[in-house]
Amino acid sequence: MDTKRCPNCGLVNAASAMRCDCGLVFASHSLNVAGNDWDSDEVQAAIRVYVQNGVPPENIVQNLASEGINENAARQLVRRVLASMGTGRQVSPYSNHSQRMFAGVLVLLGGIVVTGLAYLLTPRGGTFIIFSGLIAIGMIQFCIGLFGWVLNKILK
Ligand SMILES: [Zn+2]
Repeated sequence: MDTKRCPNCGLVNAASAMRCDCGLVFASHSLNVAGNDWDSDEVQAAIRVYVQNGVPPENIVQNLASEGINENAARQLVRRVLASMGTGRQVSPYSNHSQRMFAGVLVLLGGIVVTGLAYLLTPRGGTFIIFSGLIAIGMIQFCIGLFGWVLNKILK
């Protein structure tokens, strides 16, 4: 009997299965490469479907390898499909914006604390103004991060 292995959880399903127990909907063309060129358009299209379903690229590589493809060749192919989807570009700025917002909040809070202390400790208030610069920097960082993050959400 023909079978296909789920690239998400590794369960072996009947070749006719539309959906795996783990919930993954199989691509119309399986990654079963027997009788197909291993880098055919059909196999690439199947990889794309699995990526869009959130299957980790490494799992797809392992699945291809289990079909008899050289693992390095499989990794190259998956990488090529990912590059054509622009996935590499989508992921990194997202976390950068979040990190920037977080850093901005930290600097902002630091600035507030330091300015508050300086205000309390300085009778006439001369030096505490300097620390308010930290608050401004923190706010700017946060706004840039927020702007990038929102923009990313809208463009997604
Ligand atoms: Zn599965």
